[in-house]
Amino acid sequence: MKNNIKVAVIGGGVAGSSISIYLGKLGIDVSLFEKNDSIVSGPPICHLHAGGNLYREISDESCMTLLKESIDLLKFYPEAIDYRPTVLAVPKSDKGDPKDLFNRLELLQKEYSRLIDEDSTNEVLCSAKEYFKIYSKEELEELKDKVEVNSPSTFNEWMIPVAKNIDFDKLKFPLIMVQEYGLNIFRLSASASIMINKSKNINLFTNTEVINVLENNENSGYNVEYKKDYQNKIEHFDYLINAAGFRTGMIDDMLKFKVNRLVEFKSAYVTKWHSCLKMWPEVIFFGQRGTPTGMAQFTPYPNGYFQIHGMTEDITLFKNGLVKNTPNSSQPKLSKEFIEKIDKSWDNFEIELRTKRAIAHIKQYIPSFKNVEVSSKPLYGAQQIPGDEASLRTADVSFEKERYARCEIVKASSILTMIDEIVKKFVKLGFLESDSYGKRKFLYENLNGDLISKDAVILCEDRGYPTDMAYTNNSSNRCNNL
Ligand SMILES: Cc1cc2nc3c(=O)[nH]c(=O)nc-3n(C[C@H](O)[C@H](O)[C@H](O)COP(=O)(O)OP(=O)(O)OC[C@H]3O[C@@H](n4cnc5c(N)ncnc54)[C@H](O)[C@@H]3O)c2cc1C
Repeated sequence: MKNNIKVAVIGGGVAGSSISIYLGKLGIDVSLFEKNDSIVSGPPICHLHAGGNLYREISDESCMTLLKESIDLLKFYPEAIDYRPTVLAVPKSDKGDPKDLFNRLELLQKEYSRLIDEDSTNEVLCSAKEYFKIYSKEELEELKDKVEVNSPSTFNEWMIPVAKNIDFDKLKFPLIMVQEYGLNIFRLSASASIMINKSKNINLFTNTEVINVLENNENSGYNVEYKKDYQNKIEHFDYLINAAGFRTGMIDDMLKFKVNRLVEFKSAYVTKWHSCLKMWPEVIFFGQRGTPTGMAQFTPYPNGYFQIHGMTEDITLFKNGLVKNTPNSSQPKLSKEFIEKIDKSWDNFEIELRTKRAIAHIKQYIPSFKNVEVSSKPLYGAQQIPGDEASLRTADVSFEKERYARCEIVKASSILTMIDEIVKKFVKLGFLESDSYGKRKFLYENLNGDLISKDAVILCEDRGYPTDMAYTNNSSNRCNNL
């Protein structure tokens, strides 16, 4: 094994931070460059996607990949998970039938059971038998009369507020509840920061932008030029990992590497429902993407805060928000309007307008969703999608030359697949021993949940979001073996 290998990681999103943590644990000297002042500060990450049940349009295989990858991610960052289930509802305005979802759910349940048989520590979404439950209209009518509980732990208890508040006339039956959990970006950021700060092998450079990259002589690595505190520095690295998120193409362009990718700007809105004092599950109201009845996602945070996605052009999606690279550049060019939102700020009028539309989109299905106010700026950003298929949800990493990896995750859950592929390359190059590949247990740290909450509160304050968003609803639904 070659000693003293130096690796540069450009971009401290969930991809760059996680690969840095993993390589650092394997004893590799990593420099992580992040132009913002904290890590995991990019586009929102709010759903774990353990089974991909929010995406009716993707294949069964992709859903099974998401299930396995999500279990891996949950074990890596257990304190960042909101252990609350998700309700799947098909509105009458939608062409779909809830029964169309059954086959896939059964397939996922079987796959989850197989993963548990393979490794009992995979049982993190509760027992396979309880992966999902179907609710008839009659069962929901019964739950309507029950008293809401403070710490729901059974599917029925979680379903009570939904049964009490949804407009039965707007939905097709049955409804489904599934163990699809939330992922809290502030807690993810805090968890990764704590692990990075503890590592002797990771040099984290925040407020540091990589401004140029040059390939050294063939097979000997890259010179990375970066800017920190108005000073430019150049350093040599043996391996380069490009984890620059939607700006991955800019690094490719510096090195004249040609790849096709899409970039999509999207946002989710933060609201406060004053009269809501009880805990909710996530609720998904399906709908065709890009139409006025596009899917509505109702994502709960503690103390009456809700984050809303509405997959229409007036809410989450934007006209010309999806762009493709050109023959001359690997970097798709988002228009100035979006880059300003990402790098500077949003206009208050637009925040009000779009958040109010998001509130109205949910109110169609939950009429009691009133006394709701716009709480903060949205959670937003641009997402890279490798290739040219906009609905792709499972992607990990690609390689160019021997010493260059390009992280291309679309969902946070893919990070361990991405990491495994990079480690495989390192083994091939003689940088790591072969038993480093697929290693897991050495990765899991027992992080202190209270410490994470404390750091996550500071991140919420610094980034301008309600501090209640630093917490998860509670852990009453958390599996015993976690
Ligand atoms: C509205 C919306 C909702 C989403 N919801 C979910 C969800 O529920 N679940 C989920 O799993 N995913 C979700 N995603 C996708 C998810 O946000 C991305 O897949 C994920 O953030 C990608 O992580 P990353 O580390 O690859 O990139 P990023 O998080 O974008 O990180 C890249 C980092 O690189 C830094 N950087 C770029 N260029 C340079 C440079 N030259 N020098 C130094 N630093 C640089 C950037 O500042 C940034 O911090 C959502 C995306 C959007 C837009």
